[in-house]
Amino acid sequence: MTLDVNTLFLVTIYVEAMLGLLLLFAWVQNTAIHAVAWWGSAHLLRAASITLFGMYGQWPPILTIDLSNAVLLTSFAATWIGARVFDGRSLEPVGLMAGAALWLFVSRLSGFNESPEFRTLVSNGIIASYTWLAAAEFWRNREEQLVSRLPAVFMLFAHGALFLLRTPLVALPWSQGNDSVTASVWITVLSSEALLFTISIAFILLAMAKERMALDHKNAAMVDALTGIANRRGFLSASEELARRQKDDPQLAAVLLIDLDKFKLVNDRFGHAVGDRVLQIFADVAVNAVRPSDVVGRLGGEEFAAILYNVGRERAVVIAERLRASFAEAGAIVDGHPVGATLSIGLAYTEDRVFDVPELLVQADQALYRAKERGRNRLEIVPDRTVTVKTTTPPPLAQTAA
Ligand code: GH3
Ligand code: MG
Ligand code: MG
Repeated sequence: MTLDVNTLFLVTIYVEAMLGLLLLFAWVQNTAIHAVAWWGSAHLLRAASITLFGMYGQWPPILTIDLSNAVLLTSFAATWIGARVFDGRSLEPVGLMAGAALWLFVSRLSGFNESPEFRTLVSNGIIASYTWLAAAEFWRNREEQLVSRLPAVFMLFAHGALFLLRTPLVALPWSQGNDSVTASVWITVLSSEALLFTISIAFILLAMAKERMALDHKNAAMVDALTGIANRRGFLSASEELARRQKDDPQLAAVLLIDLDKFKLVNDRFGHAVGDRVLQIFADVAVNAVRPSDVVGRLGGEEFAAILYNVGRERAVVIAERLRASFAEAGAIVDGHPVGATLSIGLAYTEDRVFDVPELLVQADQALYRAKERGRNRLEIVPDRTVTVKTTTPPPLAQTAA
């Protein structure tokens, strides 16, 4: 079988267009890195310029292969730099324009154009480097090794290597003047590249989807099914996160430990379903009482905790009291039953901008114990002062029954 120029053109156009569509598909899966869209568009632009060249036997003045190469090479750069430094968010169009302009300028230099092999070797070298950088980047960004990224990284690496070898592979039979061998080598190289690239993208998408699933799974293990707020694990994990944030941005903090009063009695008198409803009501009230950046969790049973970030003692007392009052109101009548649910709060706070959540939890626990001891439906504070608060209406059923 002899391969004519038309077949070569068709294969090249097909491969370029497929790569472009594949990249755009990958971009739709994760639109955060815009440079991938540029990269895909550059391949489509290449397919278009090669088509036009095949139809008219010359590069159309606007849609030159230099222009599509310029976009392609700089989009490789933007993809990598964007992922690495700017997280795909900024400087990308500027970098892309600058890179494209530079490539167009270089491609106009007569010295650069004297040897077509040198020229293609340079552009393929650039593409190979960025493929390797992308492989390294993909490897570096793996999420706690939830899923192996090795196959995708290997495929990307092989793709880059083949790109680099493309020119010597094709140049050898070409220099011997054997056109049909040149054509077969070209087709083999091109289709292998397309295959490797397709497999890499498939592995990348697969790894990303699996990691997302694993992450969802992990998140589900951190959420309390009844109330929808964080469970003990989620609360501890969020408090560790807060401790990390605290290192960069030292702030005051307060911890509230909350226990519903005589909750066993609520269950006994109105049934477990009403008890569950009361827990859900508390979670809603608590989430509304704090700021979105604060942490609220159900530590177990009818015991909850909250970390108030960037809050001093006075403000923490206001929030705790508001929480207690809102719950007394929302828990007064539940599903038509006169439940009159109340809660006790232990509050611990820091006076300097260094805090240790476990230590604060221990202190808040002592305060909570005191609140229970001193009659419930109240707020107690450590380290120093005690705040005695009037009992809010309606009169708590649990206490009258006790
Ligand atoms: P105190 O004022 O001293 O805290 O009294 P209490 O009755 O609340 O004390 P205790 O902590 O001993 O009781 C907690 C009760 O909470 C026991 C259990 O029946 C109830 N409880 C724990 N988890 C759930 C739950 O998921 N749903 C319901 N409805 N009740 C629960
Ligand atoms: Mg209780
Ligand atoms: Mg309890």
